[in-house]
Amino acid sequence: MSDPIPEHPHEPEADIEHLAATLRRRRHELADAEGARIGQGRVVHGLTTHMWAGVEVPAVACHAAVDPLRLYPAASPITCRRCLGRARAGRDQVPGQTSIL
Ligand SMILES: [Zn+2]
Repeated sequence: MSDPIPEHPHEPEADIEHLAATLRRRRHELADAEGARIGQGRVVHGLTTHMWAGVEVPAVACHAAVDPLRLYPAASPITCRRCLGRARAGRDQVPGQTSIL
């Protein structure tokens, strides 16, 4: 039995290269942003960079979203308390949160 829907209609190498190019472009789009929104979300998160399969990809500092393609640049200040807490880790407590465990 063969799968009626091919999982990899293209050459796997071409798919990976296309994805890597997409991720690099998104990282470039987010490079100058103050923060990022996740999808249509209202919370502005801090940005950081993660390594994924040898490619630097944008990510939110609090790990609220793992898909960089869902991140959109935001011009307004960071409002995510978890991201703000990470940025000043060890110096201040996050208002309203006394423990992460
Ligand atoms: Zn956040």
